[in-house]
Amino acid sequence: MEKHYCIVLRTADYKDYDKILTLFSRSDGRIDAQARGARRLKSDIATAAQLLSCGEYEFYKKGDKLFLTTALIKQEFYHVQNDFDKFAAACVMLELSDKLLQNTDDYEDLFLALIYALFAMEQGTLSHTQALAYFFARIVERMGIFPAIGTCAVCGNETGGDPAAFSMEEGGEICGECAPHVATVSVPRSALLSLVKMGGARPQDIVQSAAGEQEAGSVIDLMSRYLENMMEVHLKTMKCFREKSL
Ligand SMILES: [Zn+2]
Repeated sequence: MEKHYCIVLRTADYKDYDKILTLFSRSDGRIDAQARGARRLKSDIATAAQLLSCGEYEFYKKGDKLFLTTALIKQEFYHVQNDFDKFAAACVMLELSDKLLQNTDDYEDLFLALIYALFAMEQGTLSHTQALAYFFARIVERMGIFPAIGTCAVCGNETGGDPAAFSMEEGGEICGECAPHVATVSVPRSALLSLVKMGGARPQDIVQSAAGEQEAGSVIDLMSRYLENMMEVHLKTMKCFREKSL
């Protein structure tokens, strides 16, 4: 028997009554497991096999496959599930976690960033935009690809203009001298300062480090494109979020 503290990142129907779950284990990263009978009306594991369910999961192993036996659910993120904007932001976080787990073994911080971001939306201490902006900022920080801010990504000179010129290809801010030679997008300085503050804040400090609503929107827009450029992470769920929120 195996025990993991997990959150459900993805579910897929399988056979007549089963589900295949993609879970994020706090200690072990990504886990795939089969939830037998989870779609039956009176299944004991129906709730555990839902997207966003989080708690203590138990599995048994047969060959190299894991089967969910029971779970003690601590959090279902009910308000997130039932609010379109919050749910759209949560789906981006889940997809991002799923994709990035293959590139890291720093599970603990990523797991906590996800849980605290969801929890802030659940409790309404942060808007869905603020919560998602934090998640993006923390992710790029923990993946070791935090952009150059305050110094030019090309020549290393100090930068300071507002708006700032940001290059996806060079990975950060570009100074006035280098800007004519590089493709850049214009970003409010306040959004970059928020990005630095959120990226450096522990998941426990998510509320104190939150960006303003406008800065948060800019950070999400910038970092989703940045991740796509740096790591070829194409987020299907961002389309839905963008149409609705940005
Ligand atoms: Zn420069």
